Amino acid sequence: MSELETRSPLLRQLNERRILNTVRLHKKISRSNLGREIRIATPTVMRIVDTLLQKGWLEEIGPDDSTGGRPAILLQIRAHAAGAIGVELGRVYARFVCVNLLCEVIHEEEIEVASLTNASQLVEFVGRFIVRSGLDLTAVIGVGVAAPGPLDPVKGQLLATDDIGVQWHEVQLVELFQSQLGIPAFLANDADAAALGETWFGLGNDFHHILFVLADAGVGAGMAIHRSIYCGAKNQAGEFSHTIVDMNGAICSCGRRGCVNTAASAYAMMAAVREARHVDQGENMLTIIQQAIEGRSPEREVVDRGLSYLSVGIFNFMQIFNPDIVILGGRTLLSAQYMVREIQERVRKLCYNSGVDVIPTSFGISAVAIGAAALVLQHVYDHTQLIG
Ligand SMILES: [Zn+2]
Repeated sequence: MSELETRSPLLRQLNERRILNTVRLHKKISRSNLGREIRIATPTVMRIVDTLLQKGWLEEIGPDDSTGGRPAILLQIRAHAAGAIGVELGRVYARFVCVNLLCEVIHEEEIEVASLTNASQLVEFVGRFIVRSGLDLTAVIGVGVAAPGPLDPVKGQLLATDDIGVQWHEVQLVELFQSQLGIPAFLANDADAAALGETWFGLGNDFHHILFVLADAGVGAGMAIHRSIYCGAKNQAGEFSHTIVDMNGAICSCGRRGCVNTAASAYAMMAAVREARHVDQGENMLTIIQQAIEGRSPEREVVDRGLSYLSVGIFNFMQIFNPDIVILGGRTLLSAQYMVREIQERVRKLCYNSGVDVIPTSFGISAVAIGAAALVLQHVYDHTQLIG
C-alpha cells in the first residue's frame, strides 16, 4: 500500500470504486488499460486489483489475444460474487428483485401490499425472499427500498402518508432492515430510484440528464444528473404529481387545484369514469385503457384527457430541467403500447420536435424495484458518493 493510501483509506476506497466501475463499463479490460483509462499508477492498480480478486469481485478471464505481442490478462466483474435486493413498496403491489453485481435480475416476486400488515413483516418477507433467490445472506450487500413519497431518504424513514396505509407511518425502515437482517439498507422515492436504475444500468447509460416519469396508481417523476439522484434542498425535488396543469381543475389532496395527480393519475381516471357513469362498477385501470382503445365512452374521453394533462406536465418539466432523454414507466403507461405512443406524440408536438427522445423503460414494470437495487450498487461503483 502506498504511503498516501495508508494515510487515506478514503482514497483507496475511491480508487476501488473507480476501478470496479471502469471494469464494469468495459466488460473486460487489462490492468494496464485500466490504469491508462483512470490515470492511476500501475502499481496502485495492481494492488487494488489484487485485493478485489481476493475479495472475489473481480476475476481473470484469460489473455487478450487482440493486441499482438505478449497478451495481457483480462479482468471482468465476477457478477455472481454478491447480490443486492431491490424492493418496490408501491401503493397496491410490492415487487422484489434480487440482482447480481451487474444488476442482472436473478430472481423476482410480487405480492399485494395489503398482504403485509406492518413493516416488520416486509423485512421478514425479504429475509425469506433472499433464501428463495438462492443467495446466502452474507453475500447480500444491501437492500434498497423505493416507495411513493413522502419519505426521508436521509433518515431512511417513511413519513405520514395515506397511500400505503396507517401502519406504515413514521416507520424507520432502514433501521428495521439493519436490526432485523443485519444488512445495510437505503430508501428513496420510487421515481427517483427508477431514474437512478436507468442512469447506471439501463437506457440512460449514455446520458447525463435523465427524467423518469412514473405513471402507476399515482404519478411521479425522478431526475438523475451525472448518475446521481437530484433531491433538491429538502429532498422534495421532482414533486411532479403536485405541479399544476389546470388552474380550474379538481381539488387535490395537497389542497391546490388541478395538479397532475388530479388530472392524470390512475386514481383520478378511475374516479372520473365512476363519476361519468354515476355508478361504481369496480373498474381497474387496465380495463379502462382497453375500453378507451376500443373507443368506448366515457373511457375514451377520460383517458384522452389524462394523457393530455400528463403530456403537458412532462413538457413543463422538460422546459425547466432540459433532460437528454425522458423515460416512461409504471403500470398505467406500460399497460398498452397505445399509452406510450400517445405520450410520445403529444410531448413531441408540444416540444416542436426538439429531438429529445421519449421512450419506455427497458426494465418494464420492474423499473422501480431494479432502481431500488441500484441504490445499493451505487455504493459499489460510484466514487463521487464518497466525495459528497
Ligand atoms: Zn396536489
